[in-house]
Amino acid sequence: MTISEIIKTTIANLNEQGIQLTPKNYAQVFCKVAKEQNIKVEDCEELKKYIEKLSPFIREQIKKQNPKDLNEFIIYLISSVNKATADNVSKQNITLITLVKRLLQTITFLHDKEAAKLANISLDRIEYLADLNSFEMIKDKWFDFVTSYDDSYLKKLEPYCKLESNSLKDIIDCVIETMNKSSNTTFLENISGLIIASLNPSIASSVNDELAALSYDLKSSPILLTDIEFQEKIKTLIKKRVKLDKDEINSKVNSLNEILNELSKKLITVMDKSSISKEKLNQIKNELQKNCKDIDFEKLKRKLAHIANSLEVEATSLTDKIQKENDLISNLQKRMHRLEIALEKAKRESKIDFLTKLLSKRTMEQELTVAESAYKRYGIEYSLVFFDLDNFKMINDTFGHNAGDSILKELGKILSKNRREVDLVGRFGGEEFLAILPKTNQKGAITFAENIRKAIENHNFLYKDERIFVTISAGIASRVDFTSKEETLQNADSMLYSSKNAGRNMVSPSVI
Ligand code: GH3
Ligand code: MG
Ligand code: MG
Repeated sequence: MTISEIIKTTIANLNEQGIQLTPKNYAQVFCKVAKEQNIKVEDCEELKKYIEKLSPFIREQIKKQNPKDLNEFIIYLISSVNKATADNVSKQNITLITLVKRLLQTITFLHDKEAAKLANISLDRIEYLADLNSFEMIKDKWFDFVTSYDDSYLKKLEPYCKLESNSLKDIIDCVIETMNKSSNTTFLENISGLIIASLNPSIASSVNDELAALSYDLKSSPILLTDIEFQEKIKTLIKKRVKLDKDEINSKVNSLNEILNELSKKLITVMDKSSISKEKLNQIKNELQKNCKDIDFEKLKRKLAHIANSLEVEATSLTDKIQKENDLISNLQKRMHRLEIALEKAKRESKIDFLTKLLSKRTMEQELTVAESAYKRYGIEYSLVFFDLDNFKMINDTFGHNAGDSILKELGKILSKNRREVDLVGRFGGEEFLAILPKTNQKGAITFAENIRKAIENHNFLYKDERIFVTISAGIASRVDFTSKEETLQNADSMLYSSKNAGRNMVSPSVI
C-alpha cells in the first residue's frame, strides 16, 4: 500500500465511523492504518522519538499515562512542568542549599585550615546572601581551592609511615606508633646521655653518691626517663648538683680569702720593712682586708694583679737591699775566715799550751832538738818521759768534757810543780805529755816519773764537789841507750804502751 492508498483508507475509515475529520483524528487513524499495513511513516514515529529522549524515570511515568499522540504527550509535559515550578523546584532548592551547608560544615571539621576557612566564609555568604551571584562566587572559590590544593607537606612523614591511607586518623596512629618505637631506643639513649652529662658537677671535683647511682641507672636503662617518679628524681638531683657546684665555689672563695688574708699579713710585714709610702701601704692593706664573701671574680683578679704588681715593685727594691746586705755579709765572712786561719796559726805557733799552761808540742820538738845538739856537741845526756792519762775517755764520758778539761788544767799544775828548773814539760797530744829531763839518766827519770804518778794518784781532783780518781801511766827512755832522738822518743812511747798493758798507773821501766 502506498501513502496515497493509506490516506484514502484513513478518510474512508473516518467516514465509516462518523468521526470528524480533524487533524488530530486524521493523524490517529492514518498512523493506525500505516501500522496495520506495516509501513513506517516518519511522522507516526515522532512521539516515540521524543519519549526516548526523556530520562528513564520520566519515561516510566509517561508509560503509565500512555499518551496516544504528540498532543497528549505535550499535555503531560505541560502539567509536569507546571507541577514542578509550583512546588518541587523551591523544595529542591532548599534541600540543595541545606545539603551544601552540611557539606561545608563537615569541611570545617576536617583539619585543613585553608579548607575550613573557605568553608566558613562560604557558610556565612550562603547564610546571609543566598543569591545566585553568591553561589557563583563560592563555586569559583572552591574551584580555585581544589586546583591549588597542596598536601605535599604530608610527604615529610613518609620516612616514618606509608601515606597510602586517606584517613588522617590512620596517619596519626602510625606517627604515634613510630614515636613510641623511637622513644624506646635511640632517642631515649641520646637524651639519657645528655642528662648524665648535665648531672656531672662542672666545678666540684667529686660526684655525690646519689648522682653517681642515678647516672648509672640511667645509663643501664634509658627507658627510666619515661617514668614520672624518675623524672622527679632527676629534677631533685639536678638541683643538688647545682648546690654541689655552688658549695665548691664557696669553699674555693673561702680558701681564696684565707690566702688573701695570709698574703695580706705577709705583704704588710714586707711593706712595713720596705720603703713603700704609708698611703700606698694603707691602700693595699684595705684592699686585702676587704671581706670577699660577695666576691666578684673579675674584681678579685684585678685586685690580685694589683697586689702582685705592688709586690713585684717592692720585691725588686728589697732584692736590691738584700743583695747589698749579702755582699756585706760575704765580705765579713771572708774576713772572719782569714782571722780564723790567722788564729789557728797563732795557736800552733804559740809556745804555751792554752789549757795546761805547759809548753806546746811545737816548743817541745824545738827543745828536743836543742837537747839533742847539747848531747851531740857536749855529751850532755837526757831522758824522755811520756805520760798518758789512764782511761781518760771514760772520765770524759762519765763526768763530761768540762770535767776532763779541768783535770787537764790541774794536771798541768802538778807537772809544773814537780819538775826541776831545767826540766821541760809539755803537752804532746790530747791527754799525752812529754818531759825532757836534761842531765838525767834512766834512774833519775824513773824517780821523776814515779813522783808524778804518785802525786796524781793522791791528788784530790774535784769537779762540782765530786772527787774524781785519776791515774797516769809513764814510759821512759834515756838517750844514751839509743842512737837518735827519734829512736829515744819512740822507745819512751813503747814503754808507755808497756805500762798500759801491765795494768796502768805505772812507770816503765820501773827499775833499772
Ligand atoms: P788509756 O788508759 O788507754 O790511755 O785510755 P784513754 O781513755 O785515756 O785513752 P784514749 O786514747 O782511748 O782516749 C783519750 C781521751 O782523752 C779521748 C779524748 O776525749 C780525751 N782528751 C784528749 N784531749 C782532751 C782535752 O783537751 N780535754 C778533754 N776533756 N779530753 C781530752
Ligand atoms: Mg792517749
Ligand atoms: Mg789515755
